[in-house]
Amino acid sequence: MFASPVVDLNQIATVPVLMGNTKRAVGNKKPKLECGLSMVIRTSDDAPMLPQDALNMLKAGNERYLSGDVEAKHVCAGVRGALKNQGQRPAATILGCADSRVALDFVFDTNPGDLFVVRNAGNVCGAPSGGLIGSIEYSVGHLQTQLVVVLGHTNCGAVAAATGTRIAQSTEGLSDCLKALVERLEQPVDEAIKQSPGATQCDIVELGIKLNVWHTIEELLRNSSVLKAALLAGTLEIHGGVYCLENGHVDWMGQHPEQQHLLDGSSNVVCGVCVN
Ligand SMILES: [Zn+2]
Repeated sequence: MFASPVVDLNQIATVPVLMGNTKRAVGNKKPKLECGLSMVIRTSDDAPMLPQDALNMLKAGNERYLSGDVEAKHVCAGVRGALKNQGQRPAATILGCADSRVALDFVFDTNPGDLFVVRNAGNVCGAPSGGLIGSIEYSVGHLQTQLVVVLGHTNCGAVAAATGTRIAQSTEGLSDCLKALVERLEQPVDEAIKQSPGATQCDIVELGIKLNVWHTIEELLRNSSVLKAALLAGTLEIHGGVYCLENGHVDWMGQHPEQQHLLDGSSNVVCGVCVN
């Protein structure tokens, strides 16, 4: 078993790069800490990561995950100490589904300190009082992440459940809290049903998963003046994506096609689920 090296926090800045893992370096940025094997971590000493760099980091991590060429995950005391003492500066914020099969630090081959993550079943936005929007505002406003990703996934049980209840026109058997969750998915699911005459329920669910990603982005913009201001200032991008449970690939959807209209109110379009 590998013995954890002791990293003197006072010497972190001068810890030599012993194994030269620069796969995760963005641009000319060098890994700032290497602990034992090749773990690279971000702390508040790092500059905020630009949206495109953060997106490229996630894409590269997903490629490593797909190829099996992932970085060593050896979280030693030095890594934990640096994260505690130097604070966090995550590269990106992700709003994802709580599904246990979508393990984000695996999917993106990321390390502690890389991702600020909020999750719930169905990756829905929820009410302002629920804490989710405030969490994302904290990440964007205080931790200075410049990329938010709303990440759905194939075979999402929450979207499938909402589709079933809409087709059956019944929520019988669901608790009040589960009904409230399903209600959050009604709009994109109804749109998927409308757009898919004659389709199988499976196909409706898969379309609903994509429309729900757009819908969640719309809800974030409707409810958060902080996120809207950051988008308008050019210090934030919000991208959608769908993770495939079967092959591990993230299908990137880009930014909301009606984002400009959602921001400037120049259109009556308030529901991007109408947009494919
Ligand atoms: Zn799900």
